[in-house]
Amino acid sequence: MNRTAALLLLLAVAPAAGCAAALGGPASVTGADTLVIGVKPDQPGLGLRTGQGRFEGFDVDVALYVAEHLGVAEEDVEFTAVTSAQREDVLTSGEVDLVFATYSITEERRSLVGFGGPYYVAHQDILVRADEEGVEGVRDLEGRTLCQGEGSNSADRVIEEKGIAAELREEPAYGDCIAPLLEGEVDAVTTDDLILAGYLAGDPEGLRLVNAPFTDERYGVGIALEDVAGCEEVNRALTLMYQDGTAEELLDRWFGDTGLDLVTSVPQFAGCG
Ligand code: GLU
Repeated sequence: MNRTAALLLLLAVAPAAGCAAALGGPASVTGADTLVIGVKPDQPGLGLRTGQGRFEGFDVDVALYVAEHLGVAEEDVEFTAVTSAQREDVLTSGEVDLVFATYSITEERRSLVGFGGPYYVAHQDILVRADEEGVEGVRDLEGRTLCQGEGSNSADRVIEEKGIAAELREEPAYGDCIAPLLEGEVDAVTTDDLILAGYLAGDPEGLRLVNAPFTDERYGVGIALEDVAGCEEVNRALTLMYQDGTAEELLDRWFGDTGLDLVTSVPQFAGCG
């Protein structure tokens, strides 16, 4: 085969940058024409499926801002639902290009995937039934039953890191923990305050947010481990998002009514690579 033919063949089979579905994912999200982005489908205010395959929330809007900075218009972004447990897999398989899904940056996860950001620092808190009187802080979870979405780090924060002996019930996702909580099958749902605030807004009579934050959850933009250039470009977009007032606007739009203390200055980035 001559060199021109070889080059043409290479161009024909090379994965299109940003088209994650093609041949195991892109080399870099920089210069992508399209993006596949994983978001949560069941977390009001953050990532929520609204019908006809559409998603809305803070994570979705931050994703669209970053996509636009990468030169990808909204109509060329395909959102897809991911659970906590799927986040590393969809990135390492190349099924998605980026993950914006309340995805805390942790050392363990950093060995598998890259992280831009954090684009926000949330704090773990506790959601209980409104008539629960025995839970005012994380120590009160001793001997209680907690519910978490599989693949989340929240139960570990309580049981492993704080050495609190609590029982754990795992559901596929946090949205599946609310009915068992209301029905008294579990005592508490403990995870990020932003997530809990969304469920509280759905049932302010039946639920109570304890408001005793006890961790920093640095929300990263999940990206392929090797895409360091993409990660750096994501960080440039996030810096701009804070500088041009968009972050403040989005935080106010999605969480302004929650009563949470919203930090509107750019978080300290974790660093790429
Ligand atoms: N931010 C935490 C985590 O990444 C809890 C919420 C979640 O699972 O999405 O594990």
